[in-house]
Amino acid sequence: MNCPDCRNAELIEKRETIRYAESGLSSVALQNILVRQCPACGHKLVSIPNLAGLHHSLAMLLVNKVERLVAEEIGFLRKSLGWSKADCARKLHVRPEQVSRWESETSPTQMQVQNELLLRTLVAKGQKIEDYEDHLEEIASKEPCGKSLLSMIFDHEKWQNSSPLCHC
Ligand SMILES: [Zn+2]
Repeated sequence: MNCPDCRNAELIEKRETIRYAESGLSSVALQNILVRQCPACGHKLVSIPNLAGLHHSLAMLLVNKVERLVAEEIGFLRKSLGWSKADCARKLHVRPEQVSRWESETSPTQMQVQNELLLRTLVAKGQKIEDYEDHLEEIASKEPCGKSLLSMIFDHEKWQNSSPLCHC
């Protein structure tokens, strides 16, 4: 395949682990991803298989996360429901500014446990996560340690987490 950008060279195919910050989650790594790069201009084409499945798997991992959700994870789950911030405020019966504060990149306020459990439940219901109810009690019991990394691998036609969420 010729470089679509400079048209000067053939793209070179490699398998790489890439960060997927475009998801809105800064700590997601995708393993064994096909990357085509131009040796002339450096242009990169990244092919992520089954994007919808990846987002589903990430949402499922967050719903079942033992630690409290951090700002970017709240935003990711909200978007996975297709909600704007205003929609989210309406559904959770909070003021719209509140949602912005939860998701603030610079100085987020922690989501109240009740709201967090409700958000997780709504995502779980939408995503048909069967085993959610079972560990509802342990969920959202720990403060985030900031060390977790979601390392995802596309294996057997499914997105799977190859490194468990941090349980320190
Ligand atoms: Zn090029």
